[in-house]
Amino acid sequence: MKIQNSEFPIPNSKQRLQSCDLCPRQCHVDRTQGECGFCGNDATPRIYQHFMHLGEEITIVPAFIINMAGCNLTCPTCPERFRFASQRLPIHDAESYAQRLAQYFINKRMPKSLEWIGGEPSVQLPFILQTSEQLHKIMGNTCPQILLNTNGYFDANLLNEMKGTIDGFVFDLKCLPSCQKEITGAEDYWETVTPVILRAYQIFDGPYIVRHLVMPGHTICCTRPIIEWCRQNIPRACFNLMTGFEDFRPERVATREITRQERENARQWFMDAHFENCLLDGSYFNGQ
Ligand code: SF4
Ligand code: SF4
Repeated sequence: MKIQNSEFPIPNSKQRLQSCDLCPRQCHVDRTQGECGFCGNDATPRIYQHFMHLGEEITIVPAFIINMAGCNLTCPTCPERFRFASQRLPIHDAESYAQRLAQYFINKRMPKSLEWIGGEPSVQLPFILQTSEQLHKIMGNTCPQILLNTNGYFDANLLNEMKGTIDGFVFDLKCLPSCQKEITGAEDYWETVTPVILRAYQIFDGPYIVRHLVMPGHTICCTRPIIEWCRQNIPRACFNLMTGFEDFRPERVATREITRQERENARQWFMDAHFENCLLDGSYFNGQ
């Protein structure tokens, strides 16, 4: 990944769209002129659905979810990647969208959290920051906590720009380097994502959740070392072990899910880690 020279000011994410380098794909397309990079986005905000959701982690619900189109990873099991292309809500500018959100929250239902989620939201960071800033201005201290639900595959320098606007994170930590190409499609997944997770842990005070979805055939190589890595490196984070994966891709002959033994092993390693703060499948569980 390109490292910015700290002697020079780092351009903000909006300026960086002109030769986009927000993530390690380093497409250098001019998104402000309608060019799209690997993630499929130019500079136009693309949101394909938004709704109040009660099924997120128990500590952040009700969460108002904003699904943004485009992603910079290519996880083969992804349920979202191909949904976004044709479904775009008529949302064009940050100011009017923030107004609409504030009206909905104040007049209809106030969420505990607003979650920017994908695809991968960081590929549309300028719009997220503009809208979130406006929302903070309009709602003041009644504003729901604003969370970025992200794969973490972006330039860690962007975290400095998020500070003060994004209140917290839901990270998805997927796999170890040995399996990153197979699971995420990126050869530099781990080396990119872990510095982002560590830096966010250091500089943000708000909600901080790290999810790990247990994948079939990846408990010993990925789940076990990820539990240990989180225990050692981000001990105060809320660790959410997710054990409900099923692969429903129609092109597969049979669905693939984690075995009973894999689920039991993962749960045992998770319990043995004695996290201060943790959830199992998004909820509290016996012993918490
Ligand atoms: S955010 Fe999109 S256009 Fe920019 S570098 Fe990443 S994949 Fe390429
Ligand atoms: S990071 Fe998420 S949205 Fe992107 S391809 Fe992977 S599962 Fe899909």
